[in-house]
Amino acid sequence: MELIPYMEKHGHEQVVFCVNEDAGLRAIIAIHDTTLGPALGGTRMWPYQSEEEALRDALRLARGMAYKAAAAGLNLGGGKAVIVGDPKKDKSEALFRAYGRFVDTLGGRYITAEDVGTDVNDMEYIRMETRHVVGISKTMQGSGDPSPVTAHGVIQGLRACAEERLHRDNLNGVSIAIQGLGKVGYYLCKFLSEEGVRIFGCDLDAENSERARQEFGVEVVAPEAIIDVQVDIFCPAALGGIVNDETMDRFRCQVIAGPANNQLAEDRHGDELARRGILYAPDYVINAGGLINVYVELEGYNRERAMVMTRGIYYNLKRVFAIARGQAIGTHIAADRMAEERIAAVRNVHKTYVPGMDRYPGRTRMPTR
Ligand code: NAD
Repeated sequence: MELIPYMEKHGHEQVVFCVNEDAGLRAIIAIHDTTLGPALGGTRMWPYQSEEEALRDALRLARGMAYKAAAAGLNLGGGKAVIVGDPKKDKSEALFRAYGRFVDTLGGRYITAEDVGTDVNDMEYIRMETRHVVGISKTMQGSGDPSPVTAHGVIQGLRACAEERLHRDNLNGVSIAIQGLGKVGYYLCKFLSEEGVRIFGCDLDAENSERARQEFGVEVVAPEAIIDVQVDIFCPAALGGIVNDETMDRFRCQVIAGPANNQLAEDRHGDELARRGILYAPDYVINAGGLINVYVELEGYNRERAMVMTRGIYYNLKRVFAIARGQAIGTHIAADRMAEERIAAVRNVHKTYVPGMDRYPGRTRMPTR
């Protein structure tokens, strides 16, 4: 892979390679764009088979974070880091502290958090070496479990979807099928049952399904049959890639909207949903509650503030739908355009030099034109 041409093509600013042999650390930090603010994104730990695989993942995920933050209206850029290793075998205090020191060298240009393969304990080791980490536990003045905030954000998004496609101004009487009744799925059932929604749900873990049935009256469906249920809204809350060649013909819904990351197996599946008249709520717009939650941690955590800020997801999705309608494009493309427009607009604002402000990375830039 030719790294610098790749970075130029996709708009990345910086890539940092981090090695500490004694600690067994091999990590890559990718920073996409800091126009809006410091690059925030989790640290993934994964047994990548090659350096190129790890690098590509970091670059791709960093760019995704820039779009997510921009679409959510946050003053954050996009970044992501990967640690090469098996999270079941290779974790140690030294590894995460060595990594934390590299994060610290960036002086706040990159702020890290949990991701696949890392957890709150790992963040606490990182926190020993740098303050540029979020998603730490409540006992350490962190924000704790983001799932209720993510679910609250998804509910706001579902309202926007119901208005757009079902022509209803609330969710009462709407039917929904939730795939995955884990952390976010649980809170979705709780909030939706309070709104009078008819909920179908499934999980590979029978205990999760049973809990949702008992507590919220969820009608439990076999995991392999959830896509075939005739409902107003299908809500992916498990794994990514659920909108694919195999599932496309099976959906019996008018809307697909939920918290799962990377729901479209490929972009062309978003085009196909649009062609079939199924409204798709772009995943990174509707599931931004988790990111909003850690953003609030940067300001001094307050759950109420996180919940209030998350209401903005309703307006963000309305805007995505308006762009999609106005430009006759799929909502997945409209979301990207909305994010790109905001980054370009703020870049323009930052052309103006303000004395004393240039010490804040990403906040202001010298005029370039
Ligand atoms: P989780 O692991 O707690 O829950 C996922 C659940 O899905 C599990 O209970 C699992 O058994 C179930 N599952 C997996 N495959 C399934 C299948 N084929 N059919 C039915 N059930 C299946 O995870 P979570 O934190 O609730 O996150 C759910 C999704 O939302 C993930 O894609 C995650 O990346 C995304 N997300 C979560 C947050 C958050 O705040 N937790 C924020 C943004 C995005």
